[in-house]
Amino acid sequence: MTKYIFVTGGVVSSLGKGLTSASIGMLLESRGLKVRMQKLDPYINVDPGTMSPYQHGEVYVLDDGSETDLDLGHYERFTNGPLTRDSNYTTGQIYLRVIEKERQGAFLGKTVQVVPHITDEIKSVIKKVGDSGADVVITEIGGTVGDIESLPFLEAIRQFPLMVGRENCLFIHLTLVPYLKAAGELKTKPTQHSVGQLRQIGIQPDILICRSEQPISREERDKIALFCNLKPEAVIEERDKDFSIYEVPLSLVDHGLDEQICNRLDLPSQSPELGPLNEILHRLRNPQHEISIAVVGKYAEHKDAYKSIYEALDHAGIHHRAQIRVGRILSSDVEREGPECLLSGYDGILIPGGFGERGIEGKVEAIRYAREKGIPLFGICLGMQCAVIEFARNVIGLEGAHSTEFDKDTPHPVICLLDEQREITQMGGTMRLGAQPARLVPGTRAHTAYGTEQIEERHRHRYEFNNVYRQQFEAHGMVFSGTSPDGGLVEIVEIPQHPWFVAVQFHPEFKSKPTKAQPLFAAFVEAAVARHNRRSGKAIAEDQPADQQPVRR
Ligand code: GLN
Repeated sequence: MTKYIFVTGGVVSSLGKGLTSASIGMLLESRGLKVRMQKLDPYINVDPGTMSPYQHGEVYVLDDGSETDLDLGHYERFTNGPLTRDSNYTTGQIYLRVIEKERQGAFLGKTVQVVPHITDEIKSVIKKVGDSGADVVITEIGGTVGDIESLPFLEAIRQFPLMVGRENCLFIHLTLVPYLKAAGELKTKPTQHSVGQLRQIGIQPDILICRSEQPISREERDKIALFCNLKPEAVIEERDKDFSIYEVPLSLVDHGLDEQICNRLDLPSQSPELGPLNEILHRLRNPQHEISIAVVGKYAEHKDAYKSIYEALDHAGIHHRAQIRVGRILSSDVEREGPECLLSGYDGILIPGGFGERGIEGKVEAIRYAREKGIPLFGICLGMQCAVIEFARNVIGLEGAHSTEFDKDTPHPVICLLDEQREITQMGGTMRLGAQPARLVPGTRAHTAYGTEQIEERHRHRYEFNNVYRQQFEAHGMVFSGTSPDGGLVEIVEIPQHPWFVAVQFHPEFKSKPTKAQPLFAAFVEAAVARHNRRSGKAIAEDQPADQQPVRR
């Protein structure tokens, strides 16, 4: 019998519900259980694909091409169960499905209503994940209890135990217990109110997880338990972790969360295998190198806009025992202040993906700087497209070379629309999306990094390298080290004469894990470590070894 865990949040948003849910998933997997994760988001957009990164952070892409909430990135990094289109639903998607059914006459003339039709649809998408053969489904409800828009989801999970049995369901509620400096104490009232609101809806949480800056005392825990109708041991403290997100699951184990979940749901309770998690923390606490990487992007000031990239850098750091200081640099600042003043101290430069014209010239400038100074450069998606534009302009000498995304009339459209994209007018879900195979050229940096000729990586783009220019690029020293299996689409470009200059059309950051760094991220960080060590070894001389002279026109 599949068990269902529902995670809700109260008091404030941004409590780290995604991370807590992912941690629960990780702990249950570490006990040998088959876990499937799911996120239900209350907003009306059909998916986050059309939303600005300022609104909702990064759009996380799955193998099957679905564009999902960034919490699914936490799930994939922390757990191993497959994630698919069924792992993320929004209010928009639920309504769309119900309205499509209504148009097909599926409701036989009945009045279509929030209860039961919308709530039935929500229950069915939860059940569908359970029916895929999982031991446990963890469904996180986005938003905060008390929001108008999350009500149908809460009503649906209230009804859910009626369908599968209350003994097979567990409600976990995450709240904030704030510390008031003026009073010098923790305040439990917001938590009491939040649980009160849940109980009004008909949900009595089984376990309460309390985020807090300070330790929660025995008395405070007893008080919360009494007011929230729980046993004291069901009130679990989750203290803020300054050092690493990988401390979160371990601290939940210390507070007995996994054990309680297993007891409550009558799950086989073998003890958790925490070796890999401890190893990650050991490596993080004992770095052997310290390097700095600049991420130069349009949304660099927004901490969630390139979430998976920052995480993938961390994983590569764990792999090489390198502590990485990441500098988030706005590409528009590079335009204003020049690359030298903003980028000269870094051991590596990463140019992430993106859309829209703002900051493009700053990215191109940063790439030129990295290429000319021999600084390891990693371009991702739009980052690769900018690397191509830079090479066209400054190495080949194609003046005004550009992507047609930014300059329709460029004399040298080195990046242009994919043929299959030309007729498309709809925005949502219409890009080249999801896992696509690629073939690597033996002996290239990409091939060395992956150690294989066949790879599969996730994509999210409309524009593509323009093959008309391939020979010209090759003649000037750019190598096309990865292409689609038929050779038609350029997937990876690199400059062999440079210490490490690799740019990819796909998004390698989506497949990185703390226990298994993504190969290109690992190779990039290795190159940055090498540069750092070389530079600190001879602090005065800045010269590159002869065989690693950067390419100049
Ligand atoms: N805007 C570019 C395109 O659509 C790059 C997309 C991206 O970086 N994800 O092709």
